Amino acid sequence: MLPFKLIYSDGYYLPIGAHVFPAQKYQQIHNRLIETGVAEASDFLTPQPASDQDILLVHTPQYVQKLKTGTLAAREEMEMEIPFSPELVRAFWLAAGGSILAAECALKDRIAFNIGGGFHHAFPDHGEGFCMIHDVAVAIRRMQRDDKITRAMTVDCDVHQGNGTAAIFAGTRIPGGPLPSTSASVLNPSAKVRSAHAGDVFTISLHQENNYPPVKPPSSIDVDLPDGIGDDDYLAWLDNAVSCGLRQFEPDLICYIAGADPYREDQLGGLALTIEGLKRRDELVFRVARARNIPVMVTYAGGYALRVEDTVTIHSNTVLAASVLFG
Ligand SMILES: [Zn+2]
Repeated sequence: MLPFKLIYSDGYYLPIGAHVFPAQKYQQIHNRLIETGVAEASDFLTPQPASDQDILLVHTPQYVQKLKTGTLAAREEMEMEIPFSPELVRAFWLAAGGSILAAECALKDRIAFNIGGGFHHAFPDHGEGFCMIHDVAVAIRRMQRDDKITRAMTVDCDVHQGNGTAAIFAGTRIPGGPLPSTSASVLNPSAKVRSAHAGDVFTISLHQENNYPPVKPPSSIDVDLPDGIGDDDYLAWLDNAVSCGLRQFEPDLICYIAGADPYREDQLGGLALTIEGLKRRDELVFRVARARNIPVMVTYAGGYALRVEDTVTIHSNTVLAASVLFG
């Protein structure tokens, strides 16, 4: 039995038809974890959908109203890049409920997973890039509202920049100086680090610069990686960004967005990490959090490997890494 909880429901399946987003991956990760003996049935908790009140902690009443009444404009649906349906709305409310539960469990057990979520391209007033509702932001705002945390940090390792996260928490940014100079620019002079201090939520995003989203609103720390970067460079950048972040900000919770799409065989990514490198990435984040005694809530975000099994392996390995480090 794992020393932490995995939040999962068959209802995480996104009813989007044939799509580059492998909507079946959640169930496949669940099954893989059981089949390989990494987890057993009792390690899983079933979430309840978030309440509308929870969703409204992040999203605008107008947007929520449009989703609940199926009245998105054609342009808004196009921007979301997944076909609207009431069932899809239910799946996103459930994913947000899963992230709330995962955050609560993480605060008790040091770490917890939502075997889903990580919809970091959702904005308060619109959806984008396969994301309707920003489940991670909803979970953070709910934990703050319940006085369970004051400050959170997002560590977003999806290959695409966390534009929704940056926009949602931009209002809490306070003026500050630049990052302390680091050795990162020596490691790879072509990668760029942009930074701004944060208020109650500090956002870190490591992503491929030449990729969606075309406009990248500033996170607290953005690491704009060049195309084709491999395991060692990536891990050095990650280590650097997280260390910098934790030097200037002490979170009560880390929300790790563990996208599988920095993988070298990803259809929507242009980085070159191996499956082993992605596991080392997970271990790095977990090791830092464990050393500083900061609870971690994990969500999965994207993953578009040519072979869906690889995406499932990468996501399952994240649980495996946690089971070793927190075992
Ligand atoms: Zn992505």
